[in-house]
Amino acid sequence: MSDAIGLPYTEEHEMFRRTARRFFTSECAPHQGDWAEAGQVPRGIWNRAGELGLLCPTIPAEYSGGGGDTLYSIVLMEEQVRAGVVAPMLSLHNDVVAPYVACYGTEQQKATLLPRMATGEMVGAIGMTEPGAGSDLQAIGTRARRDGDEYVINGQKTFISHGHMADVIVLAAKTGPAPDDRKISLILFETAGAVGFRRGRHLEKLGQHSADTAELFFDDVRVPVSALLGGTEGRGFGQLMDRLVEERLMTGVGAVVFIERALELTIEYVKQRKAFGQRVIDFQNSRFKLAEASTEATVLRVFLDRCIRDFMNGQLDAQTAAMLKWWSTEQQCAIVDECVQLHGGYGYMLDYPIANMWLDARISKIYGGSNEIMKEIIARTL
Ligand SMILES: Cc1cc2nc3c(=O)[nH]c(=O)nc-3n(C[C@H](O)[C@H](O)[C@H](O)COP(=O)(O)OP(=O)(O)OC[C@H]3O[C@@H](n4cnc5c(N)ncnc54)[C@H](O)[C@@H]3O)c2cc1C
Repeated sequence: MSDAIGLPYTEEHEMFRRTARRFFTSECAPHQGDWAEAGQVPRGIWNRAGELGLLCPTIPAEYSGGGGDTLYSIVLMEEQVRAGVVAPMLSLHNDVVAPYVACYGTEQQKATLLPRMATGEMVGAIGMTEPGAGSDLQAIGTRARRDGDEYVINGQKTFISHGHMADVIVLAAKTGPAPDDRKISLILFETAGAVGFRRGRHLEKLGQHSADTAELFFDDVRVPVSALLGGTEGRGFGQLMDRLVEERLMTGVGAVVFIERALELTIEYVKQRKAFGQRVIDFQNSRFKLAEASTEATVLRVFLDRCIRDFMNGQLDAQTAAMLKWWSTEQQCAIVDECVQLHGGYGYMLDYPIANMWLDARISKIYGGSNEIMKEIIARTL
């Protein structure tokens, strides 16, 4: 893997990379077709990832995590994307959900949830989006009303990744008095045995078929007040905004490696495909398109590595993370589209990885904060 600005990878990171590579190439990649048909991965693959130490690599060792730095998460994301594996979405579990508990959780929340997330006994999800509120998070309607030592939750979520499989969901809900309160809190909702909680159908998507995406329904669901993340109401919006920086960094990592893989596959293809008595790569148009895309990939890699370094030093701000997210995903979709074009008709055939990559890429401009919202975040600071 190229490392443009000398990130501090060690021999331990490389050992971890080898384990991750074996896991994704031997235990996940061969099953992507079956898992796509099933609309989800088998539960056991999470336990297997836990056994191999691939879950919660950056969570402190005292909570059974790997105790490693961000580069472990980067290595995992790189190997997953390079292997062409969509699900299980380890980064969502490792870099999005577990850190909420680790960063803001009470001692009891950390001690009860994190060790089980590290083994794969519990799979995590994050529930923000609702049918009537996506980009405008403050418009969510899900409520958690205090009733003695419990909250009573009512509402609906949609588009929740891992929603069918999740055992713990970081759930965004309003905890202030209805109807106009904007106070959002996060609840660590454990799904096992929850009365009044229901998961809807598997949502059918354009791509990322092996990742389960669900609607969730809450009908007078009772949880103890101890499930409130961090124990103080009304902090949810700030917690979400803070954590989204890392989520956007990881989206950037995924997008850049995705571009690198698309280019590798395409260069290999155009070198062997012939038309008009010559290789497709020998047409000037092919060489120029690939030269442009390779330049873009190199520029992005340098920017990404700078963002990784800044994140590790606690200096990646929301504006720069938004720049990385929108630009890398915009390029991801544009470049994979060119790669399909260079494959000709075969690029439209699902037997070819590039066709699946085209389908899988599209969502990256929408989730994790749409690219329009990214531009709003950037523009606000100008
Ligand atoms: C496959 C998939 C997985 C997902 N996983 C999760 C998950 O795990 N958890 C979760 O909570 N959510 C998840 N989401 C939801 C995702 O984050 C939202 O779809 C996204 O934030 C956009 O919200 P929306 O769909 O309601 O679109 P809307 O907010 O309705 O936006 C519609 C359009 O309007 C634009 N727009 C909105 N506001 C503005 C503005 N202020 N300025 C300019 N343009 C604007 C948007 O950019 C978009 O183009 C997932 C979605 C998908 C499809």
